[in-house]
Amino acid sequence: MSVDGVQSAEPGGRHETDAVIIGAGPCGLFAVFELGLLGIKSHVIDIQDKPGGQCAELYPEKPILDIPGIPVITGADLTARLLEQIAPFGAVFHLNEMADSLEKTESGWRIATDLGTVIEAKAIIVAAGGGSFTPKKPPIPGIEAFEGKSVFYAVRKRDAFAGKKLVIAGGGDSALDWTINLEPVAEHVTLIHRRDEFRGAPESVARMRALADAGKIDLKIAQIKGLEGDDGAISGVAIEDTQGGAGIIGCERLLAFYGLTMKLGPIAGFGLNLNENRIAVDTEKFESSTPGIFCIGDMASYPGKLKLILSGFHESALMSHGAFHYVFPDRKLKFQHTTSARELQRTVTGTTPAD
Ligand SMILES: Cc1cc2nc3c(=O)[nH]c(=O)nc-3n(C[C@H](O)[C@H](O)[C@H](O)COP(=O)(O)OP(=O)(O)OC[C@H]3O[C@@H](n4cnc5c(N)ncnc54)[C@H](O)[C@@H]3O)c2cc1C
Repeated sequence: MSVDGVQSAEPGGRHETDAVIIGAGPCGLFAVFELGLLGIKSHVIDIQDKPGGQCAELYPEKPILDIPGIPVITGADLTARLLEQIAPFGAVFHLNEMADSLEKTESGWRIATDLGTVIEAKAIIVAAGGGSFTPKKPPIPGIEAFEGKSVFYAVRKRDAFAGKKLVIAGGGDSALDWTINLEPVAEHVTLIHRRDEFRGAPESVARMRALADAGKIDLKIAQIKGLEGDDGAISGVAIEDTQGGAGIIGCERLLAFYGLTMKLGPIAGFGLNLNENRIAVDTEKFESSTPGIFCIGDMASYPGKLKLILSGFHESALMSHGAFHYVFPDRKLKFQHTTSARELQRTVTGTTPAD
């Protein structure tokens, strides 16, 4: 899925940069800004298909009331504003990729993702929130045999579903978004939800219903009871409707969107000092017990930590000063307000500050 204001890299490449940020939640996004102010370039990795972390995934339409200077803003709009704010720094995003392993190199760190992307950097910033969002599996007997072959819980590549007969299951934003987005490329889409009410954005519900009314997709109000097929290749889903009527819907792929839980995931194996599944940091630089690895946002653990977006913004500013010394070991850091950042001033306001 392409996201406005995001420079995305193809999976599987090799890159060198100054800093890698794990997590494109609000704190990871603001870290791009704070690092950028000090001339530090970043790459951002997120397993989600879009930036914004919890704001984008869990509450895009909920009003947030405690961002300084902004009396009210939704999770989706805050994400969009952060992307606009960091655009001048040209961070490279690796979306749909899980930061999977981390190893020390002579000059810094080498981080690899589950899709084979490798990035070398001088500093690592973990902004992984509550961990990676992990899909909740539907309670369908024998589903494991089909997972990763013909049953999927996320769309990593839209093209993988082109020309296929799809069943999409679920009633939230992901199920609706992918029904709408895959309908033009799939051979056929059937959306199955257990009741005729949807949790997704009203606009998406209306678009999905319009597709159903026009006969471009099938909408079934039913529960999936079983899967048919051999050797991991699905040939149909067995459904039962609300009146107890049963049937089979033929398909080549099932996409199930039953919600997400958050798990620490591979970061647990990075060898960092953990405190109840969060990374213990100092409050001067937000550095972990491993030099060169920083942690900000919900995943940071220190006395008095509040899991708030504004706390993560503050942590980003101090972290960037700590990271500077790894990226530019020979340079002295001179603190400046953004009013003195001439290039940024020029980009954002179109004027240059007077000397
Ligand atoms: C319903 C709700 C309402 C809230 N309302 C408010 C509010 O009004 N005001 C407020 O200040 N806060 C609010 N919060 C809390 C706020 O959302 C969090 O404090 C904030 O999202 C933390 O930001 P973050 O960047 O640290 O992490 P997150 O937003 O959790 O983002 C972390 C990102 O890291 C990614 N990730 C994790 N591990 C990996 C990995 N190994 N590889 C790749 N990617 C990975 C995840 O996919 C995720 O996108 C609310 C939270 C919820 C659930």
